[in-house]
Amino acid sequence: MKIAFFDRDGTIIEDYPDHQWTDIKEPVFLTDSIETLKSVNKKGYEIIIITNQYLLNEGFISFEQYEDITEKMLNALIHHGVEILDIFYCPHSRTEGCNCIKPQTGMIAEAIKKYPSINIDESFMVGDSIVDVELAISMKMKGFGIGVGSSYNHEKIREVKSIKELLDYL
Ligand SMILES: [Mg+2]
Ligand SMILES: [Zn+2]
Repeated sequence: MKIAFFDRDGTIIEDYPDHQWTDIKEPVFLTDSIETLKSVNKKGYEIIIITNQYLLNEGFISFEQYEDITEKMLNALIHHGVEILDIFYCPHSRTEGCNCIKPQTGMIAEAIKKYPSINIDESFMVGDSIVDVELAISMKMKGFGIGVGSSYNHEKIREVKSIKELLDYL
């Protein structure tokens, strides 16, 4: 099984400064994200979202708020015909030293445990942060950094200017 691992905030939906998240109630989809997810599905990838939500344990958002935004996002995606296999999130604060906060590899390890047929060599990670790119490098997996700066001289990492540009490389 080949997986497209997607970051959530700043990649699929709008991201905000931490303190602003407290008042966010609706996910706002970024330009082309839904269409890109759909195309990735069509190319035979299962989609798994992996998201750092230190906002939870650092007290910026409640768990109910996280669940509500997730549910609204998934409903909109389902409505547009996008299939999401699963979502893994790290609720830990940045100072807890957990092994799941990206760029740590814990969430991908968890995904592989749950879905043993995942083939990392055929999978990729995409996100708008350096942590997403670093996670891909740690996993020796193909990675796309959206607007992260092209300072990565690494054969498996590609800098793209927009989310839909990754479709050119699949
Ligand atoms: Mg992000
Ligand atoms: Zn964690």
